[in-house]
Amino acid sequence: MKDIQNICTSIEVNDQKMSNPVAPIIVQTSSFRFENYQHYLDVNCGKEEMYSYTRDGNPTTAILEEKIAALEGGEKARAFASGMGAISATIFSLLKQGDHVIVVNTVYTSSVKVIQSLKKFGIESSVIHVNETQEIFDYVNEQTKMIYFESPSSQKFEMLDLKQISNFARKRNIYTVIDNTWSTPLFQNPLNHGIDVVIHSCSKYIGGHSDIVGGIVVANKEIVKTIDEYGAVLLGASLSPHDAWLAIRGLRTLPIRMKSQQETIIKVLDCLKNDSRIKKIYHPYIQQKELASTYLNGYSSLFGMVLDNATPQIIERFVNHLHVLSLAYSWGGFESLILPAFKGNNEEEMKKRGLDLGHFRVYLGLEDSNLLINDILSALDYAYEGEEI
Ligand code: PLP
Repeated sequence: MKDIQNICTSIEVNDQKMSNPVAPIIVQTSSFRFENYQHYLDVNCGKEEMYSYTRDGNPTTAILEEKIAALEGGEKARAFASGMGAISATIFSLLKQGDHVIVVNTVYTSSVKVIQSLKKFGIESSVIHVNETQEIFDYVNEQTKMIYFESPSSQKFEMLDLKQISNFARKRNIYTVIDNTWSTPLFQNPLNHGIDVVIHSCSKYIGGHSDIVGGIVVANKEIVKTIDEYGAVLLGASLSPHDAWLAIRGLRTLPIRMKSQQETIIKVLDCLKNDSRIKKIYHPYIQQKELASTYLNGYSSLFGMVLDNATPQIIERFVNHLHVLSLAYSWGGFESLILPAFKGNNEEEMKKRGLDLGHFRVYLGLEDSNLLINDILSALDYAYEGEEI
């Protein structure tokens, strides 16, 4: 008689037949069996190590963590269910009541918002705008415990001097935390310049296919242990094994994608930089070349662009006439995407961030560069038809 219950529920795998898969195995389980009661005791008393529950750790997720730690030159990494999960876990784990945190206001907007929200837990923040790195230090006080920043930053892709920040902060026991998503671990390694914590949104280049949301933190063992124990296990935004597996798949093509996208951005910016309809381009290939050559091993393909004399009508005509670039949030996948900074009701916020009405964030994907150039130029022709420039 067939043991229907057993056939349906057992998961034994014939190891010999499945010895060497080319792609990693997805260990898509929430829980792991203990061998017996003694084993359960040994694991809980720390005598033996074992994956026991996926929120706390998972073998597939561990593959991703090891790879990103190695690429960043860090001791350890911890993956999260989103970039924001990684950012929140880091700040909630490393800061406590009475602390002060400095955030450079050109970072991803939600990062500013979560840092400002710390006020209700008695943590003060200064959201600052700086032109030069050393201006950051004017905002430091006795309580300052963290400097949070991006370099290149979101929207304007401005660079800060990482060594200057880390030298200053280390002497004062201030954590330095950088969101390195723009550069990927291939184009910039901030830990090598003394920065304490590196964060990536894996939803962008690392995932690479616009099909996952994930995040990761890299730092030394001690810092990651703190972020792991509080920010991951207790706050709970751990990455799912399936999404970890998709991020590992993304990593396999990351070097070749970044190489191709670097070629595309240079070609496109060379073509756009002298166009009279474009008032300004923000990208390290165009601005702050000295800092770029000190810290970047390559140029990624996300940039800012300001249309000259932009009106809401010009913005609308430009965006609606793009056929290769799509109007959508996010970046880092195959498809080229564009996002106007002006959302209809955010002029005040734009002013605070120093953004012009005609500011766009543009992501160049893996399409042919000539196709992208033609698309942008023909949309500009359409948007400015009959306008004096
Ligand atoms: N950091 C940067 C620079 C981003 O652009 C984003 C999202 O767009 C995030 C962090 C947040 O990542 P996620 O959307 O994975 O939470």
